[in-house]
Amino acid sequence: MIVGAGPGGLTAGMILSKRGFDVTIVEKQNRVGGRNAELRVGDYVFDTGPTFLHQKFTLDEVFQEAGRRAEDYLDFVKLDPMTRLTWGDLSMETSSKLDKMVSNIESAFPGSSDGYRRFMKDHAEKLRAIFPCLQRPYHQLGSYLHTSLIKAVPYVATAKSVVDVLEDYFPDDRLKLAFTFQAKYLGMSPWNCPALFSILSYIEYQYGIYHVQGGLSKISDAMADVFKEHGGSLRLGASVKELRFDGARVTAVELEGGEVLQCDDAIINADYAKAMCSLMNGRSLPAEKLAKKKYSCSTFMLYLGLDKIYEDEPHHHIIFADDYRANVADIQGESQVSEDMSIYVRNSCVTDPHVAPAGKSGLYILVPTINCRHGFNWADYRQAYRDKVLARIEQRTGMKDLREHIVEERIITPEGWRDDLDVFMGATFNLAHSLDQMLYLRPHNRMKGYDNLYLVGGGTHPGSGLPTIYESGRISSNLLCERYGLDHGRVDLTSSFL
Ligand SMILES: Cc1cc2nc3c(=O)[nH]c(=O)nc-3n(C[C@H](O)[C@H](O)[C@H](O)COP(=O)(O)OP(=O)(O)OC[C@H]3O[C@@H](n4cnc5c(N)ncnc54)[C@H](O)[C@@H]3O)c2cc1C
Repeated sequence: MIVGAGPGGLTAGMILSKRGFDVTIVEKQNRVGGRNAELRVGDYVFDTGPTFLHQKFTLDEVFQEAGRRAEDYLDFVKLDPMTRLTWGDLSMETSSKLDKMVSNIESAFPGSSDGYRRFMKDHAEKLRAIFPCLQRPYHQLGSYLHTSLIKAVPYVATAKSVVDVLEDYFPDDRLKLAFTFQAKYLGMSPWNCPALFSILSYIEYQYGIYHVQGGLSKISDAMADVFKEHGGSLRLGASVKELRFDGARVTAVELEGGEVLQCDDAIINADYAKAMCSLMNGRSLPAEKLAKKKYSCSTFMLYLGLDKIYEDEPHHHIIFADDYRANVADIQGESQVSEDMSIYVRNSCVTDPHVAPAGKSGLYILVPTINCRHGFNWADYRQAYRDKVLARIEQRTGMKDLREHIVEERIITPEGWRDDLDVFMGATFNLAHSLDQMLYLRPHNRMKGYDNLYLVGGGTHPGSGLPTIYESGRISSNLLCERYGLDHGRVDLTSSFL
């Protein structure tokens, strides 16, 4: 039994059903995907959350674990350029082609491309050391003695942050940001994010980022298709009220409405902290206790349907705050909404004709902001904040008349993530990825104290972000197989080139 059809639950579902298990996924919403679901606003189709795929080889691996090729289900587009980065009047486009990136860096930051070459060379080695640690479980202390972690210790066991790492490569703070903003994928500040995560920008610049035609939500749809092809049972609109236990064993899940579904094993994909304080029957933890953990930031979202296409605007665009460090400090402080905000804009219609009516386009706008820890009142501020965000986009991009072309609109605030989408504290990227909440110290893939209860998704090891979450689905599936003495093998597409 799997609770939740987000990327983590769907990965485990398609792998386990392929391996012969009789699997049911119960999903509260009427559609699959969770934060990676499709969002329809009028005739426009948006991704609720993820808008790009990196580390595509991990997705390829989990599809192959399920006996399928991702390409047979999904139409991938490798983006080049990848993202336009804008600091005030200066912009630079990023690329996974070495020569192009060198030339773009030289145009925007003359004399800086040697640092880029060194960064890429050093990080190939760093990734080789760290990657195997992200493919194994850490539910036993003994895992720390595994050779893979021992090799990675120099990169992991350091008090340095991602920004500290970049000091060695680039003198210009703006250029450093091009290699550190990826910490935001984990909802963290690059000034606090552990040094090991500088591999994120390397992975992006080395292996590229992908769009999926129709939107990234198509990945979730495809996973659900594979799951059903293997005989899996998917129940939408089925909200779990609580789990039932007998000692250290889960025996059943009870749905809202009273139906009880017996099970031999259970996998929780629902948001970790939300599940721990609401689904665990007499064993639920108080929300105040869970709140003592560290959480990621949240996001203020605008999904706009436009009556035109801005053909000259890029697919991905990040507009940095004028004082990015202060902006990030506001967010990490968890109490103040930045007026000098950073904004991410996705204009996927320039690549993808499937997501809006002909001649029109959908704009996805994400503003990293505080989670709900201090109870900021978004209901009173959302409209004013929306106007400020749109004014900044008009000022900093070629979309000078943006507000005149909006015909459909949806807003999600941190409170919306919390109240409508079951995300604890509205922390969209889950538990923070600080060293004290990683590996053995992150909630385990096989839950401590239980024989047959597993976690998948951003709240368990290895962490948040699509590829990492797919890996959590595979790790937990393997642990479950091991419980039954089943040899699961491993699809490995990476060790030949990493
Ligand atoms: C705005 C945003 C942008 C992001 N952008 C990217 C990106 O570009 N690239 C990237 O790699 N990652 C990105 N991420 C991070 C991450 O990849 C996604 O959040 C991902 O969808 C999380 O997957 P998950 O499996 O942890 O859980 P979720 O997607 O949260 O799925 C959990 C599921 O459990 C269900 N559920 C909850 N409670 C119950 C219950 N009681 N009964 C039954 N079902 C229940 C929920 O309805 C949901 O479907 C982004 C996240 C957000 C929020």
